[in-house]
This record gives sequence, structure tokens and C-alpha cells, in this order.
Amino acid sequence: MGPTRWLALGTVLVFKASGQTPPDSRERERMVAEQIEARGIRRADLLRVMRVTPRHLFLPEGVRALAYRDHPVPIGHSATISQPYIVALMTELLAPQKRHRVLEIGTGSGYQAAILGQLAAEVYTIELEPELAASAARTLRALKHTNVIVRQGDGYLGWPERAPFDRIILTASPPEVPTALIDQLANDGRLVAPVGTSDAQDLVVIDKDARGKVTRRATGQVLFVPMRPGGK
Ligand code: SAH
Repeated sequence: MGPTRWLALGTVLVFKASGQTPPDSRERERMVAEQIEARGIRRADLLRVMRVTPRHLFLPEGVRALAYRDHPVPIGHSATISQPYIVALMTELLAPQKRHRVLEIGTGSGYQAAILGQLAAEVYTIELEPELAASAARTLRALKHTNVIVRQGDGYLGWPERAPFDRIILTASPPEVPTALIDQLANDGRLVAPVGTSDAQDLVVIDKDARGKVTRRATGQVLFVPMRPGGK
């Protein structure tokens, strides 16, 4: 371990010993108050997990200083970690419950999966880019998110071995919601996805009722990276 790491560790210990709040925790308090609560997100357990989850640790070291800003941050391989408010908004729309099994398409940094993991029973998350899948899995393991399972693969196919899912969230944008994913949604299930082209997307909510009937509504405009066809 190099001298910088020792210094960082020392800082954490000093904060703990003195009972002071570490700076990243104050930044998260502010992020939640100013970017999330101020825009109308009210779900208490969601606000709590966003206050305690160390978002900066999901970012490559060079961009950690940007972790609590009000915008998405590039994480390499043309991926971004979503803006904090968008993570909150999509999670509130998805409405995960403690008993739910959740599927996420587009693991990216693993941050959205970590938030979902604290509100649901299990999260299965698929990432096309091998290096991102590996680094997200490492971060999630280091932070002890043991109920989040990462797989490298093509999200268009879903995860049939673990279906059905009570909740499905897409954090990359397909031109249309893939049929395989609607098939893997449980009855009484919900899917949230940014649907459209690379410059105009609707945030779509699909509900499947107790008898399997599917309804769809658009809730507003968003901008995500495109969901790439697998194998390309
Ligand atoms: N949820 C992420 C943000 C994801 S950005 C977070 O919290 O950080 C979108 C991600 O979708 C990128 O990492 C991109 O590589 C991935 N992706 C794009 N097409 C995909 C596909 N067909 N299957 C799985 N992942 C895909």
C-alpha cells in the first residue's frame, strides 16, 4: 500500500474518532436535498439509501470529484453513470419492494444496481461491455452488495434462467422494448425503460397485470446511451 492510501485511511480514522461527518457524506446530503427531494422525490427508504451509498466509489478514480454533481459522468467505453436525479426518478417509478427479484439491463458502474439491491430481494444485472461488467462486479463485491449478481452478456436476450422478474429496468435505450424482456416480466410486474433514438427518448413504464395483460405509458423525456445490439 503506497503512502497516499495510508493518508486516505488515516483521514477516515480521524473522522470516525472525532465523530465528524466525512466530506463525501455531506456531499450526499446536499445531493439528496437539492437535486432529488427538491424535485419531488419522496420515497423515504430511497432517499435514505442514496444518502448512504458512496457513489464516488463507483466511478473511475480520475472522475470521482464529479460524483455528486447534477449530471451524468462518463465512465469509459462510451458509458455514463446516470445523473443522481434520474437514478432516483427511475427507481421511484419502478417501485421495487423488499420481496422483489429485479433485472437491470446496462450495469455500467453498478451504482443503480447497488441502489436497487438495498430496496429489493435480489438484483440481476447484465452488461454488454466485459471490462465494465468486471469492474462493476468488483465494486459491488468490495461494498458487500452480495444480493446483486452481474453478468456480461446481451441485454436484448434478458436472463431467461432467472425469469420471471417482478421488476425490470433498462438504463440503456433500445428503439423499442425488446419482446424477450416483456416475456420475462412477472404478472403484477413493472418495467421502466428509456425508449427511442439516440437523441429523443420517452421514459416508458410498462405494467403487466395479474392476468398478464400489458399496458404502457410514457412519463417524460430522457437521454440515455443507446442499447447496442449484442455481438456488435
Ligand atoms: N446503470 C448504469 C448506467 C448505465 S450506462 C449505472 O448506474 O452506472 C448504459 C450501459 O448499458 C453501458 O454500460 C453500456 O455498455 C450498456 N449496454 C449497452 N448496450 C447493452 C446491451 N445490449 N446489453 C447490456 N448492456 C448494454
